[in-house]
Amino acid sequence: MADQYNGGPAIAAISTPAGTGAIAIIRISGRESIEIVDAVFQPADKSSLRDSPSHTIHYGWIVDPQTQDSVDEVLVMLMRAPRTFTREDVVEINCHGGAYIQGRILELLFQSGARLAEPGEFTKRAFLNGRMDLSQAEAVMDLISSQTDLSLRSSIHTLKGGLREKIDMLRGGLLDLMTQIEANIDYPEYDLEDVTLDQIQKTAAAILEKMEDLWRTAESGRLLKQGIKVAIVGRPNVGKSTLLNALLREQRAIVTDIPGTTRDTIEEFVDLGGMPLHLVDTAGIRETEDVVEKIGVDLARRAAEESDLILMVVDAGMELDGEDRAIFQEIRHKQYLILLNKTDLTAAHSADEFAAILGDPQAREHILAVSAKEEKGLDTVESRIRKLFFDGTIAIGKDPLISNLRQKEALRRGIAGLRAVLRGVEEGIPQDMIMIDLTDAYDALGEISGHCVKDDVIQEIFSRFCLGK
Ligand code: GDP
Ligand code: ZN
Repeated sequence: MADQYNGGPAIAAISTPAGTGAIAIIRISGRESIEIVDAVFQPADKSSLRDSPSHTIHYGWIVDPQTQDSVDEVLVMLMRAPRTFTREDVVEINCHGGAYIQGRILELLFQSGARLAEPGEFTKRAFLNGRMDLSQAEAVMDLISSQTDLSLRSSIHTLKGGLREKIDMLRGGLLDLMTQIEANIDYPEYDLEDVTLDQIQKTAAAILEKMEDLWRTAESGRLLKQGIKVAIVGRPNVGKSTLLNALLREQRAIVTDIPGTTRDTIEEFVDLGGMPLHLVDTAGIRETEDVVEKIGVDLARRAAEESDLILMVVDAGMELDGEDRAIFQEIRHKQYLILLNKTDLTAAHSADEFAAILGDPQAREHILAVSAKEEKGLDTVESRIRKLFFDGTIAIGKDPLISNLRQKEALRRGIAGLRAVLRGVEEGIPQDMIMIDLTDAYDALGEISGHCVKDDVIQEIFSRFCLGK
């Protein structure tokens, strides 16, 4: 029976971020949401939503039923339970972006019987109706606040349950182990201890290894959200600032300003072809003569320590000098690209020759010819960065990512629990003690996918959602 899914009273909210885009989506979910929209919607084809099949799109106008004034031209998506986000009847109104129009439409929906959704209430219903587990719900939250396409894709991956599958698998393994030990404790007369201890040790170690793998993905999660930290280094006047500005123009949207931009560097957060780059121009303060040399190398060293990728800019029109070489020595053991800049002017050497002068055969494949000033070759830089980070080092979309602090903390406890198990086995402590640590690990993993979280934790998570989700 479809009826049983019709769930809570109708709730409505604007589900697109405030103040962005020319189109906004107003979402309505719950009992009678179709009737409520019907009351304020006049389809161009004079049909009624009530009689329309599920998952259909209708063109028409939102009309004030009292005055018959047309408020906006809209597209209405009709989605009947249970194949919807909340598993309730859902209607989405695509309207124009102005705050006034959106407010008017919401008002009309309230007059027809909907109420304003609480923050996270749509997602909460999806969770409560069994549509998703907690890690998926959190992925939705990340989706809402994710800053670029790529972190968006990663959120979608988690949403599909990749993380949950992995966690379920690990918990399955732990549960097996617990069952065995329980049998041991309950039937000591069989005296299987020695065999089992060995087994416990092996199984626990294997599970621990997988958990530690997962832990490492938490690092890539950080990269996605905070951006790939890219430092631009090189001696004065090679064109670092020009490059930074060119990359800034190249980006599709300035996503956010980084608060706390330091005095000695210029930092920008850019979306380069869907990649969140956190660009740091080390040139910031120091283009005053003499002291430059030492500082340039120092900054390169620091950048090499702190950055995920280093862009070293050299002037193609000049011979490489001692400072260039010193900078190169600082970065060569890291992920780096050498941008042979000003190639719009006469070059002193070819890229091959520059590589030879650097004295590192590996360097050649890291050298790209560009002109920051004429914005040439930057698309190659973009695709190289993409390749470096997304084909190789960080395999986005392949591994489920631990993507937030709560999950990370739970995983940390799980790992600690399992390490305690292994220690316990080694020290030969009684199995019922080992059982305690195992249970801790098991519960901690369960918290990641929401299998045994308390109501207040759930409440806290959903209240952090934006309105309209
Ligand atoms: P920085 O000290 O490394 O930050 O260098 P700047 O970005 O301030 O550039 C130094 C000078 O080189 C400026 O006059 C730029 O206009 C010029 N410049 C930078 N990139 C290019 C380029 O690709 N071609 C040419 N012809 N000039 C460039
Ligand atoms: Zn500069």
